[in-house]
Amino acid sequence: MEIKKFGVVGAGQMGNGIVQVAATSGLDVLMSDIKEEFTARGMANIKKNLGRSVEKGKMTGAECEAILGRISTTTNLADMAGVDYVVEAAVEREDLKFNIFRDLDSACPAHVILASNTSSIPIGRIAAQTRRPEKVIGMHFMNPVPVMQLVEVIKGLATSQETFDTTWALCRKFGKTAAEANDFPGFIANRILMPMINEAVFCVYQGVGKVADIDTVMKLGMNHPMGPLALADLIGLDTCLAIMDTLYDGFKDSKYRPCPLLRKYVEAGWLGRKSGKGFYQY
Ligand code: NAD
Repeated sequence: MEIKKFGVVGAGQMGNGIVQVAATSGLDVLMSDIKEEFTARGMANIKKNLGRSVEKGKMTGAECEAILGRISTTTNLADMAGVDYVVEAAVEREDLKFNIFRDLDSACPAHVILASNTSSIPIGRIAAQTRRPEKVIGMHFMNPVPVMQLVEVIKGLATSQETFDTTWALCRKFGKTAAEANDFPGFIANRILMPMINEAVFCVYQGVGKVADIDTVMKLGMNHPMGPLALADLIGLDTCLAIMDTLYDGFKDSKYRPCPLLRKYVEAGWLGRKSGKGFYQY
């Protein structure tokens, strides 16, 4: 299926990154959020990123303007009726995503594929909210979207081969490499990454090491480009907690229990970079 118009629900750090990548690939893109200030913040971030590429000589000013010209914004989800493919990148809460998918299912014509950038919520459960489960799929980008090469493509039980092929081709159009995963909590990326981050939080909680030392061990000892606690701050501690809760609920295995300190930070509003404080101060 040929995709010309692309929609992104949620203008946060992942949403605006997906919008930037899709518009850069030549698609017309509609970005939605619940308030104009959020879509405006998303647009400002895209402008800042593209401006940096122009400064570095990676693209011309005219190319930058053309990309920005392909992006429009809305606070009315029903406007997604005019696109061919939607990726939802709203906050990681099941009830909220269910509502969005029900609304998208009502608003969008039957041919439209509805993808979710969810980090951990089962695609099958999201698909069951719609009358088109064969057209629902996971399209899991990595943060920061314009920089990271991978997209994890997750097939729900009902996802059709055509939906999968269209999504796979889109990843390629965006200049990304796709990896296929089946629909289990956390898929591949977060099934492996999050327990490591959670264990690093346990190391803080139990006083095994200080934040900086834990990150130094993983950076210099394991050659990770970032320490797990700095990475948790980048991802957002609320998102990390939501993923651990999903793994724990999904498998009912105590090895996935979220560290109490992680929950405490989130309850205090210490969400990492986006709130100015997490394991580090920003
Ligand atoms: P974020 O908090 O930066 O952005 C979420 C955005 O969703 C906000 O702008 C919020 O206003 C908007 N939103 C809330 N309710 C909405 C609604 N009903 N309709 C439309 N928009 C709504 O979060 P994020 O880090 O961009 O995460 C978004 C999604 O991407 C989550 O599902 C998360 O699990 C997933 N994800 C995050 C990362 C990461 O590293 N942060 C990586 C991969 C996937």
